[in-house]
Amino acid sequence: MKRIYIKEDVCIGCRLCEVYCLVQHSKSKKIIKAYKGEYPKPISRILVEEKGHLSFALQCRHCEDPPCVEACITSAMYRDPDTGAVLCNDSKCVGCWMCIMVCPFGVIMRGKGGLGVASKCDLCYGEEVPVCVANCPNEALEFR
Ligand code: SF4
Ligand code: SF4
Repeated sequence: MKRIYIKEDVCIGCRLCEVYCLVQHSKSKKIIKAYKGEYPKPISRILVEEKGHLSFALQCRHCEDPPCVEACITSAMYRDPDTGAVLCNDSKCVGCWMCIMVCPFGVIMRGKGGLGVASKCDLCYGEEVPVCVANCPNEALEFR
């Protein structure tokens, strides 16, 4: 399956990937409305970490053997049979946060303004290329 790979040597920590991700996962898909006019406020599923001159973006690795799928008590977390992406079915999630506890990369979040469902990268389901990859000004993210 195709995954997102990071190139930390060219990431400048501008956080545009976070902005595009948040807007992509909003109801309106409009930047001002997404940030100022939606409740619950959408959240980014990609996180930029910085230390000194180093910065890089973190998101779900869509593991071969995903511990979050194994740990999920309601089968809300599952692997999509078509794309191979690990996805969360919001309607089944009960917010027990087992997936957060077992994720080795720390990239599953409590989502959607405290609605009590898990939130994670879905590789921009339905898009040919995830928006963080498509819009990074330095090509610091690759989808291959
Ligand atoms: S948009 Fe690209 S350069 Fe900017 S923080 Fe994200 S990965 Fe780094
Ligand atoms: S928070 Fe939701 S997706 Fe995560 S383990 Fe619990 S029920 Fe499953």
